[in-house]
Amino acid sequence: MLGLMQNQPLLISSLIDFAQRHHGDVEVVSRRVEGDIHRYTYADVASRSRQVANALDAAGLAFSDRVATLAWNGYRHLELYFGVSGSGRVLHTVNPRLHPDQIAWVLNHAEDAVMCFDLTFLPLIQAVHAKCPTVKHWIALCDADKLPADTGIPGLLSYEAWMGSQSTTYVWPEFDENSASSMCYTSGTTGNPKAVLYSHRSTILHAYASALPDVMCLSARDAILPVVPMFHVNAWGLPYSAAMIGAKMVFPGPALDGKSIYELMEAERVTFAAGVPTIWQMLLGHMQPAGLRFSTLKRTVIGGSACPPAMITAFNDVYGVEVLHAWGMTEMSPLGTLCTLKNKHLTLSKEEQMKIRLKQGQCIFGVDMKIVGEDGQELPHDGKTFGDLLVRGPWVVDNYYKAEGPNPLVKDANGLGWFPTGDVATIDVDGYMQITDRSKDVIKSGGEWISSIDVENIAMAHPAVAMAACIGMKHPKWDERPIVVVVKKPGAEVSREELLAFYEGKTAKWQIPDDVVFVPAIPLGGTGKMLKNKLRDTLSTYKLPGL
Ligand code: ADP
Repeated sequence: MLGLMQNQPLLISSLIDFAQRHHGDVEVVSRRVEGDIHRYTYADVASRSRQVANALDAAGLAFSDRVATLAWNGYRHLELYFGVSGSGRVLHTVNPRLHPDQIAWVLNHAEDAVMCFDLTFLPLIQAVHAKCPTVKHWIALCDADKLPADTGIPGLLSYEAWMGSQSTTYVWPEFDENSASSMCYTSGTTGNPKAVLYSHRSTILHAYASALPDVMCLSARDAILPVVPMFHVNAWGLPYSAAMIGAKMVFPGPALDGKSIYELMEAERVTFAAGVPTIWQMLLGHMQPAGLRFSTLKRTVIGGSACPPAMITAFNDVYGVEVLHAWGMTEMSPLGTLCTLKNKHLTLSKEEQMKIRLKQGQCIFGVDMKIVGEDGQELPHDGKTFGDLLVRGPWVVDNYYKAEGPNPLVKDANGLGWFPTGDVATIDVDGYMQITDRSKDVIKSGGEWISSIDVENIAMAHPAVAMAACIGMKHPKWDERPIVVVVKKPGAEVSREELLAFYEGKTAKWQIPDDVVFVPAIPLGGTGKMLKNKLRDTLSTYKLPGL
């Protein structure tokens, strides 16, 4: 017997409809690329999102056609979030930090029909547009009078000219909630980037879950500042969850330095912020020497990389701001766990509490996780035994879009598919997960991935290099920085400087290793695989240049 409740699909358009109807006067404030502050309300977001939907109809886009963005966090990007997905198209948020060749690759792979970009990225677009034949409409996210002349980009329009003359009336279509809504490429491991394709259903369920009290605890009384980019897993879903609860939104635009973030937080009375540790490092670095304080900030979600203890102490003890340590992945929309204390922890000493806060936290309802050994058998939740971390849930990836390899899921005895995260972790008796290592061969620098294999392949292409191993070294600002350990071919010569210069133009600048270390040999395992742990041990006294 089926239940007799209304079968209304969970659609992203309902979020902005709701925000308009019930929180229409709540502000959305953005620092623009132009440097000034723009301010309007959810009612404006809603009517301009409808104009975007009409502009996409006028451009002849079909259901599920892809619309790409290369943009900072701002109000026009938000309108695209709702206008593109709400009208049944798929929003593809592109990471501008990728190398131009990779950007062209993802645009072609996604077969984007429209590209909307901030003027900051005009040089990038000029470099790639001729290689992206599927893109028929190039839209600069600016006022008509700010559109530069002679860009060389055929038919380039300003966003305001493109959508501004469209009607603000539009009836959002109703369709299957499992339809694709947005996509994000992850460049985590080797090979080509992989596309994670979110659905309306996964997005709405993730938004509900992320707003829960022991998750992000979002409320209509909050002013939310997502410093985490809207091109990085949909700013951890905050544009959706904020609309769901009617919270004020504050967008930092391109100004991510400590001073700009601090001033925006104070001016807009931000209560809740989210970002990677590197961002907060820069913020604290601005505040501490000047003796500045927060007047309104209450909570901050820190994730993407492990949160250092000193950062938790600074926020909690010095500034009275609660740190919510979070873990997730692009493949998980992204939230998996969040660290909040239970009642029984509140009487513990500060040191004991810190031990818990440093963990990545407990599962959010909807996500299930387990750790397994090499034989695939589940390991105990004793806080000591570590194993490969596997997850499943309605906002966890089932497969990549146009997947090249086999399905990534691992089937259990009951036939249920689990996504292997590439993280190695412990889980304690209370269900708190702690990442202890990574089995995927990648380095995370300032919240962005660097593929060790890509770094090694470039070195290996140099005629004097016999073997190269890229490893991540701890860095106080960037969390990790890559170095490349190199064995030269017999009789061949190459200097550190020559090899570093060899990387220029072959990869994004920030993905170039910080240093080259020459060694006579790299330790190898039985199957000829480089033993990076052993290599790391031999470099225990190594220091990155400048530290
Ligand atoms: P995001 O950076 O938004 O979490 P990514 O897909 O770029 O998403 O990266 C996911 C990976 O980042 C995880 O598999 C894990 O290796 C690492 N990671 C994310 N959050 C944490 C955290 N709190 N502590 C340690 N590593 C983390």
